[in-house]
Amino acid sequence: MKNLTQRYKKITGVIFIVLGILALITPLTPGSWLIFVGLELIGIRLVFYKNLQKTIMKLVTKLNIQKKTMINIQKNIILAPYTTFRIGGPAKEFVEVTSERELIEAVDYAEKNNLKIFILGGGSNLLISDNGFDGLVIKIKLNNLEIDNEKNTIIAGAGVSIAKLIKYATEHSLTGLEWSAGLPGGLGGAIRGNAGTFGLSMYDVVVSVRIYNLENKKIEEFEKNKCELVYRNSIFKKNENLIILSAILKLEKGEKDAIQQKVLENINWRKNTFPENSSPGSFFRHTEPTEHNLKKLQELPRFYELKMHEKNTIPTGFVIEEAGLKGKKIGGAMVSQKHANFILNTGDATAEDVVMLASFIKQQVRDQFGVELQEEIRYVGF
Ligand SMILES: Cc1cc2nc3c(=O)[nH]c(=O)nc-3n(C[C@H](O)[C@H](O)[C@H](O)COP(=O)(O)OP(=O)(O)OC[C@H]3O[C@@H](n4cnc5c(N)ncnc54)[C@H](O)[C@@H]3O)c2cc1C
Repeated sequence: MKNLTQRYKKITGVIFIVLGILALITPLTPGSWLIFVGLELIGIRLVFYKNLQKTIMKLVTKLNIQKKTMINIQKNIILAPYTTFRIGGPAKEFVEVTSERELIEAVDYAEKNNLKIFILGGGSNLLISDNGFDGLVIKIKLNNLEIDNEKNTIIAGAGVSIAKLIKYATEHSLTGLEWSAGLPGGLGGAIRGNAGTFGLSMYDVVVSVRIYNLENKKIEEFEKNKCELVYRNSIFKKNENLIILSAILKLEKGEKDAIQQKVLENINWRKNTFPENSSPGSFFRHTEPTEHNLKKLQELPRFYELKMHEKNTIPTGFVIEEAGLKGKKIGGAMVSQKHANFILNTGDATAEDVVMLASFIKQQVRDQFGVELQEEIRYVGF
């Protein structure tokens, strides 16, 4: 029955086309043109409808694919230059994304090609393996930046560097971010780790965070209380499915010169306090004291310097220094003389050198003071 209908459609279709051509070869009055076009359309529709539909679909898909491959996927990109540690092997695949759409495309690409993903910000809190990363590294370059003058808020993309953010806030006489002056990296990384100094952190400025959720493939807004921003931690650190796209930051109207002055002061403080060689910043987190290690620490002549009554945390640099590890070197990796919680790349350090040095530090500090150190930096590709 279906075959008969098909055949009937085809025959009538051919008849309409022939009639159309006949209409065309008769004198070309406007009427015959009209009949010609009408009959041709009906004929084509009946004979080729299915094929026509398929061809159009193919064309649309092709166009869509072309539209979708806006992102530039590169292979075998050495990651060391993308980090402040200047260590790390190649990413199997690598892409820079400058918009939310590109990020979603990159994620889709990884899924289709069965690749793990790693989200790279400013690379200032990472140790990347010498073997690199066996998947797709997505470098976040979402650099949008705008201000709401009435609310004194800044909306900034996750790729905006802290340096650029501070410059922007200062230009608009907004105060509240000066503490972060000199902090390397981008906004996304800073929110994820709730970066901070001087007792202040991203917690103090975040209003809400816009994210892409890999689990349900949706863009969502997280209000501040949902971000769980506590000491060097957040919901984004606990849940790798949440990619930070942008954030709204609340600041206050201030005096431009005073803001600028504070920014410079803090940058200078950093220059004097932290080493300038390649590093990922503080290597270990501060730890909370236990009854056991507190007893051992109290025996130290410089115990009063810990100022533990103020913060109730053990400053890591202090215990590493007290363990006699300043200047300790394995391969090209060395404990800084200036600040013992910094492991430096003296020029040719490998990730393996760093891992060995870090585990030596942990073992020494545990054996001497009973303090269990935990990394603040993130290991990638191990
Ligand atoms: C010299 C020096 C001094 C430092 N001083 C401080 C300090 O005073 N206080 C402090 O807190 N930190 C400090 N740091 C550490 C570092 O600068 C911060 O942790 C910084 O916020 C990391 O941001 P980033 O963009 O470089 O992140 P990256 O190092 O690129 O990434 C860190 C982690 O964040 C994730 N990430 C990055 N972007 C996103 C995103 N958009 N969405 C989801 N996840 C993301 C990455 O996957 C990774 O797991 C210092 C580092 C250096 C080198």
